[in-house]
Amino acid sequence: MKTLVMKFGGTSVGSIDAIKNVIQIVRQARRDGVEQIAVVVSAMSGVTDKLKTGVLGAEAGATDTIQQVGQTLREKHETVLRTLGGDDIELALAEINSMIDDYVRFCDSVSVLGEATPRALDYTMGLGERISARQIAAVLRAADVPAQAVDATHMIVTDDRFQNAAPLMDQTRRRVREIIPPIFKAGEVAVITGFVGATEQGINTTLGRGASDYTAAIVAACLEECDELWIWTDVDGVMSADPRVAPEASTIDVLSYREVSELAYYGAKVLHPKTISPVLEAGISIRVKNTFNPEHPGTLIVPNGDARTGQLFKAVTAVRDVGLVTVEGKGMLGVPGIAARTFGAVARTGTNVLLISQASSEQSICFMVPMGSVQTVVDTLTAEFDREIDRRDIDRIAALAPLTIITVVGAGILYMRGIAAKIFAAVADAGVNVIAIAQGSSECGISFAVSAEEGDAAVRAIHALTK
Ligand code: ADP
Ligand code: ASP
Ligand code: MG
Repeated sequence: MKTLVMKFGGTSVGSIDAIKNVIQIVRQARRDGVEQIAVVVSAMSGVTDKLKTGVLGAEAGATDTIQQVGQTLREKHETVLRTLGGDDIELALAEINSMIDDYVRFCDSVSVLGEATPRALDYTMGLGERISARQIAAVLRAADVPAQAVDATHMIVTDDRFQNAAPLMDQTRRRVREIIPPIFKAGEVAVITGFVGATEQGINTTLGRGASDYTAAIVAACLEECDELWIWTDVDGVMSADPRVAPEASTIDVLSYREVSELAYYGAKVLHPKTISPVLEAGISIRVKNTFNPEHPGTLIVPNGDARTGQLFKAVTAVRDVGLVTVEGKGMLGVPGIAARTFGAVARTGTNVLLISQASSEQSICFMVPMGSVQTVVDTLTAEFDREIDRRDIDRIAALAPLTIITVVGAGILYMRGIAAKIFAAVADAGVNVIAIAQGSSECGISFAVSAEEGDAAVRAIHALTK
C-alpha cells in the first residue's frame, strides 16, 4: 500500500489555474497507484496576511477594514467554488461564509476591547487554511476524486505558545492515527489544514508563519506508514540561491536533511526550518516540486546525502532584518560567567539567537537576533549588567541594525580547503564589507553578517562562484 503526504503552498492553491494543477497532480498520483493520499494545504496566497491586517485593524478601531477583509475573502472563495465546484458547492459556500461571518464578529469584539492578543491572532489567522481545505476538498470531489476536509485543530495537539506553538507528538500521533486511516479506507483523499493546531483544551493555535510545511511533516511522521513527503511550491525545488535575488540560480538535485535544515534555518523560505525534525526519526524522504512545472524532478531530500560532490558548495542564503548586539568592555577579560549571564538574560526574553560571532578577543561578545528583538535584548542586558556598567567593567552594550546574515551551505565545506578564502575574496571584490563572521551552528555552513543594503550583492557575488 503506497502512502503519500503532499503539501500545496499558498501560490499552489492561490488561483483557479493553480488549483486546476493541484487537481491534476492528485489525480496523477492516484493513477500512478498511490492508494493513500493526504493533502496538506496552505491558505490561498495573501489570505493569512489579510486576516492579520483585519485583526490588527480591529485592534486600532478600523472597523471598515474588518468589513473589507470579510468581503474580499467571500468574493475570492466564491469565484473559485463557482468555477471549479460541483453539486455540493452551495453547502461548501454556506459553511465558508459562516466561518467568515464568525471572523468578522470576532474582529468586532477585538475592536471593542482594543486589544489583539497572540491568542486572538491565532483564533483568526488560521481561518485561511480552514477555508482552503474545504475548498480544495470540494473541487477535488467535483473532479471525481473523493475527498474529505480535515481541520488540524482536531488533530494537531500543541502547547499554548500562541503564534509559534509546538506539537505534542504523542497525542498528535494518536489523533492522526484515529482520524486519517478511516478516510483512506473509504477511498478518499484527506485534505488537511496546514499551519493550525489546538491546545489540549481545544483553543486554536498556529505553528508559526510559513509552517504548513511543518504540518505536512508532522502528519507524515505520525501516520503508521508514509512512503514520501512531497512539498509542492512555486519553484523547481530547492535552488542554489533565492531565484528572486539570483535569477541564474539552479535546482539542487539532492540534499541531506542536515544541509536543507541549515538552508531553511538561514533563510531559504522554500522550506520551513522545522520541517525536517518530525521526519528525521522516521527517515521519510522529501521531494520539493513545482506545482506549475510538475514534470520537473525537483529536489530530493534524503537522510544522508553525499557530501563529496566536488562542488564548492550547494547554496547561498540570506536572513534579512537582523541586528548585531555587542557586549563590550575591558573589564570582561577573564571574568567568568559573563557569557552565561548574557545568554541567560537573552533566553529569558524568549529571543531566538541566530548566530554567535567569534570575537577576536575576550573583550566582547556579539550575537545576532531578529530586528524586532534588538531593543528588548539591549534593555534586558543593560539591566542585567547594571553593576558591571557602573564599575566600568562593561563599557557598552550596543546594537547594529539592520543587517543581513549570509550563509553558504554544503556538506563539502568540511572537506575542501580554501573555500572560506574564495568566498570572502568574492565578497570583497563585490565591494561588500563583512561585519562579523559566525561560528556555524553545524559543520555544513559558513555564516557572516553584512549591511542590509549589501545583502543581495553578497548573495550574487557568492553565487557566481558556482559557475
Ligand atoms: P509556498 O507558499 O509554496 O510555501 P514560499 O513562498 O513559502 O512557498 O516558498 C517558495 C519561495 O521561496 C520561492 O518562490 C522563492 O522565491 C523562495 N526561496 C528563497 N530561497 C530559495 C531557495 N534557495 N530555493 C528555492 N526557493 C527559494
Ligand atoms: N498561510 C500561512 C502563512 O502564510 C502558513 C503557510 O503558508 O505555510 O504563514
Ligand atoms: Mg512556505
